[in-house]
Amino acid sequence: MKVTVDGHSGFCWGVVRTVDIAEQELGDTGKLYSLGEIIHNPVEIGRLEEKGLRTIRHGDLATVKDAKVLIRAHGEPPETFRKMKELGITVIDATCPVVTKVQERIRKFYDRKYQIVIFGKKDHAEVIGLVGHTNGTAVVVKSVEELDALDFTRNTVLFSQTTMDKETFYAIRDAIRARIRAEFEVGTFEEMAVDFHAKDTICGQVSGRDKKLREFARSNDVVLFVAGRMSSNGKVLYEIARSENPRTHFIEDESELKDEWFAGAATVGVSGATSTPQWLMERVRKAVEERYH
Ligand code: SF4
Repeated sequence: MKVTVDGHSGFCWGVVRTVDIAEQELGDTGKLYSLGEIIHNPVEIGRLEEKGLRTIRHGDLATVKDAKVLIRAHGEPPETFRKMKELGITVIDATCPVVTKVQERIRKFYDRKYQIVIFGKKDHAEVIGLVGHTNGTAVVVKSVEELDALDFTRNTVLFSQTTMDKETFYAIRDAIRARIRAEFEVGTFEEMAVDFHAKDTICGQVSGRDKKLREFARSNDVVLFVAGRMSSNGKVLYEIARSENPRTHFIEDESELKDEWFAGAATVGVSGATSTPQWLMERVRKAVEERYH
């Protein structure tokens, strides 16, 4: 049986950077709090916890005294930074620069009184941060069926959470454009007066991967997709792989492997999300080789 790790999978640049920042602080002081899970991967969190990382929630901030607090790659709303300043907490801001840029762009449109629409998941930390930059006024949608909440007579701009899929983003863009047209007689002054922009802020680190993952999934008999169950990007990529190869299985680590998955398989591919460390995919590869050779 041939087992291969997908060379185009694993940590994205933003996550590598966040983990590096955390490890540097842990190397210096042996203690660091992460506001929310540093990445959506319990195995990697465990490794960092051994070096002194602790995960805290927003409600715990008031009790933090003896260590710095890391803002993870997803970013936070401005309110969190204000609160931490009030509490005298030293912040290590490891927000991914790609996310920071999206926050800044949203802020500019918000200041110009645009209706802000975000294609994303309401409860996702990155989206909570983005919405915070509009004082909580942005409308979050995850499909074309949810557009009724919009005011089609207002100047509007559409952004995306960085890990969403492009196809749905452009379907939402087209649907909003059509609804703005439908609101007025086409070609009237009112229609032309409504300004609509669609800003594709889906991260290149993620969007380039689906095509390569499709090829990888097709070229293996069985695919093991390694990611944390909380990873939004992991769910999207797993579904893509499974749509190409129904023998694709989602696992957090090698303890979840099942013998029946490998019956008659000559090739096994191991792939992962942007939050999946390379060493973990290698560990899964070794486990499959040892057990099923
Ligand atoms: S996927 Fe892109 S935006 Fe998200 S952390 Fe990675 S590099 Fe940053």
